[in-house]
Amino acid sequence: MKNYSAESLWGPQGWTRDARIAIDAGRVVTATGGEGERLGRWVLPGMPNLHSHAFQRAMAGLAERQTNPSDSFWTWREIMYAFAGRIGPDDLRAIAAQLYVEMLKAGYTHVCEFHYLHHQPDGKPYADPAAMSLALIEAAREAGIGLTLLPTLYMTGGFDGRALSERQRRFGFDVDGYLSLLRQLVKMENAALRIGVALHSLRAVPEKAMRAVLADETTRAMPIHIHIAEQIGEVQDCLALRNARPVEWLLDNLPVDARWCLVHATHMSAQETQRLAQSGAVAGLCPTTEANLGDGLFALKAYLDDSGALGIGSDSHISVSPVEELRWLEYGQRLATRHRNIAVSATNHSVGETLHAAALRGGAQASGAAIGTTAAGARADLVVLDENSSLFAGRDEASLIDTFLFAGNTNLVRHVMANGDWVVRDFRHRDEECIAERYRRTMRTFADR
Ligand SMILES: [Zn+2]
Repeated sequence: MKNYSAESLWGPQGWTRDARIAIDAGRVVTATGGEGERLGRWVLPGMPNLHSHAFQRAMAGLAERQTNPSDSFWTWREIMYAFAGRIGPDDLRAIAAQLYVEMLKAGYTHVCEFHYLHHQPDGKPYADPAAMSLALIEAAREAGIGLTLLPTLYMTGGFDGRALSERQRRFGFDVDGYLSLLRQLVKMENAALRIGVALHSLRAVPEKAMRAVLADETTRAMPIHIHIAEQIGEVQDCLALRNARPVEWLLDNLPVDARWCLVHATHMSAQETQRLAQSGAVAGLCPTTEANLGDGLFALKAYLDDSGALGIGSDSHISVSPVEELRWLEYGQRLATRHRNIAVSATNHSVGETLHAAALRGGAQASGAAIGTTAAGARADLVVLDENSSLFAGRDEASLIDTFLFAGNTNLVRHVMANGDWVVRDFRHRDEECIAERYRRTMRTFADR
């Protein structure tokens, strides 16, 4: 057991001054240990990243050129499919490890990987059907980040039940194949790895298959993630074929509760927003990706007023920074309403504190892991901010989180501990050179394929 101290420790409950943290075998055992090693002046729990498609990091910046005056999510998706078709297990491991290093350096200490790149490009399974899942597990282990791996069920190409397109074939599983993948992977669970369920979307998984997966013993205690209501086209198709809006349909037909994470939930009626908040599920918000893809704006104010749970994800990884996700979550609302300081609660008028605390809580809930806090029993995931930064000069607890989220353009995360290990020290990841070199080699070979 090792004792640490911090002048100020932040958590979902607020600030603790002159804090003590004892850590043993990667867990916080008590918050009242001896003085021990000084962590720093400002210490926060690591931030969970609740939505990631790791391979998309390698195409960030390649879809910013107009191909058609009506470019949209759907034209971006074609570019993404073409890119996805070239990635094998070794590539995925190299890309994901690089991404996870970047996440840790930015202050994310856990990632939920919504993983649908299962098979070979022609749709045939790899010799081990879990090869791509194992590549992600290995990448997370190398980088030292916590992982909730969400193998994704993907069966149809639209609400009408049409078959997968040629480019979607490598995503496809039937229910039995999918459940056997989960059964294989769940045996590998440990303090830094959880397995959960992802249903790609209402358009990609028939209702009967959803029910079969959720009824299976294997999935009983797992987190459940689903993409929902990201695009107006999806809302229109759902209305046309199911006579209900996507979130409405999901809440009416499946047992949505605190195990669920509804990713995006961008297009909701006032009633859907209220019902989602009351369900206890987490809204998985990805503001930089949603902005990049032109998705729309989440009804943040109404949702927070109804005490809805939320977390943040970097999704397509056009940006890898919890600061940027939380900042743009608020800025989108300011631009839309022409007001300031929207994301506050009845008990806390700081936007930064309200959003940061909510994302810690909701991110932990969606991850299905004991993270997002430094309470006894939590995994020891800590972020130490750069107390020497001039941005923090003259700041105290009351202004620290707002300054961290709204004032910085340089990374203010100095040290990061994940699962009890120091993975980032003085802004450098322990293995960043060799992971970056392998990533560069991988990307160079892409030009030749
Ligand atoms: Zn996504």
